Amino acid sequence: MAEIQRFDVIIIGSGPGGYVGAIRAGQLGLKVACVEKAPTLGGTCLNVGCIPSKALLDSSEWFSQAQHKFAGHGVVCDSLRLDLPTMLGRKDAVVKGLTQGIASLFKKHGVARLQGSARFRDAQTLEITGENGEQQIVQAKAIVIATGSEPIALPSLPFDGKRIVSSTEALCFSQAPQHLVVVGGGAIGLELGSVWLRLGAKVTVVELMPRLIPGAADAQIASTLQRALTKQGFSFRLGSKVTQGVVQNGEVTLTVEDSKGAQSELKADRVLVAVGRKAYAAGLGAQEIGVAYDERGRVIVDKHYQTNVPGVYAIGDVIAGPMLAHKAEEEGVALAEILAGKPGHVNYEVIPGIVYTWPEVATVGLSEEAAKAAEITYKTGTFFFLANGRARCMDETEGLVKIVADAKTDRVLGVHIVGPRASDIIAEAVMAMEFGASAEDIARTMHGHPTLPEAIREAALNVEKRSRQS
Ligand SMILES: Cc1cc2nc3c(=O)[nH]c(=O)nc-3n(C[C@H](O)[C@H](O)[C@H](O)COP(=O)(O)OP(=O)(O)OC[C@H]3O[C@@H](n4cnc5c(N)ncnc54)[C@H](O)[C@@H]3O)c2cc1C
Repeated sequence: MAEIQRFDVIIIGSGPGGYVGAIRAGQLGLKVACVEKAPTLGGTCLNVGCIPSKALLDSSEWFSQAQHKFAGHGVVCDSLRLDLPTMLGRKDAVVKGLTQGIASLFKKHGVARLQGSARFRDAQTLEITGENGEQQIVQAKAIVIATGSEPIALPSLPFDGKRIVSSTEALCFSQAPQHLVVVGGGAIGLELGSVWLRLGAKVTVVELMPRLIPGAADAQIASTLQRALTKQGFSFRLGSKVTQGVVQNGEVTLTVEDSKGAQSELKADRVLVAVGRKAYAAGLGAQEIGVAYDERGRVIVDKHYQTNVPGVYAIGDVIAGPMLAHKAEEEGVALAEILAGKPGHVNYEVIPGIVYTWPEVATVGLSEEAAKAAEITYKTGTFFFLANGRARCMDETEGLVKIVADAKTDRVLGVHIVGPRASDIIAEAVMAMEFGASAEDIARTMHGHPTLPEAIREAALNVEKRSRQS
């Protein structure tokens, strides 16, 4: 066995938490290594998550626009057809380019890339087993668990990788399903449902809660999205659960039970189970060295991301909090700074949450329901894209912006958008909230015209009932 290599920090996992944290540690002069068991860097996000899903969402949106919207702009496509292999190939090329980019960034910032599966021997020692079984021992003063998450399987509907699949397989169907049933009306289910609906599938979403994106968006925003997706062709079975799935002759027969206990059958050629993700730390040996986990299998950390075992830290999807790439990234940066003796910090009050359907949903901070539940006296301002000049030019007038502000101080508590390019527009609201802005601050900020973000300003004006729609 080769000589033991020693580092200041070793990060296990090269997802957005791990790779961003490793680069920041390198920038701060720490001797850092990042261990990854998959052949490519980037974790869930780059390989089977954010990036491939958005690549397909963008491509399929072009196809849908060409079918349904171009003619209204006077652009006529007489012989439009789908070339799915090219679309999937482009997605793979985008992923390849970005994952290779991380390898270059590692070189640039002096991050050692260690290939293989890491397992704790003790709090400062890892055993890394490569693909061919060869082993390497590495040591560090600080070891960071950034091993991410994996899809949750339903006992009534176990994954078979072909007919009953997770998001990973739904990113590469070689042809559009005839009928795709999506179990789970959250971000991942609605995004991948949108991709395949646009490419020709009939799509039915079965969701346990009585509304879409439960827990993540304002109710008015969720119902506006539901109306828009229904118009596009989605069918919804809300307040319903799948109790059984039987695969026979390439078809899945699902038993669906509604909130009153009534049962019905749904038949599908593909079923995407997208009911959430759970922390992943299998085979890591962390429990064996005494690292504590919560009841949902997440590694427990203190506010400096340290576990109960001194010198062992954790960040990203494997710890509590929203399972989002940008949350993992910020934790990676904050922890690297803490380990370098700097005051690393993450503001958990302003984490944007985005659903990349069309229209898109983007939200940050408190929803109206959450403000009510917290007994905060609040006021709201809304503005509909129907009255936004740019949205009219684009012919994308569906949706609205809603601002929730503290009734006494006018401080912005939350911003909720459903509409065109909500994913981009929300950045302004996140920045405003990061700086503790009031609704009046946004209302007095000059915005370029005509632009979609003007809708945010108008919603802020509407908090004082001063917008043009008021
Ligand atoms: C379809 C889909 C779409 C998504 N879209 C978005 C989106 O648009 N925006 C967003 O913010 N989030 C999105 N997410 C969520 C996002 O991908 C995750 O929140 C993010 O990847 C979490 O980052 P992480 O660094 O914690 O872990 P991960 O990205 O999961 O990375 C963990 C890495 O650790 C490695 N690993 C695990 N165990 C070991 C071991 N023992 N040794 C070595 N390596 C190990 C794994 O191979 C993996 O590469 C999406 C997820 C999915 C599935």
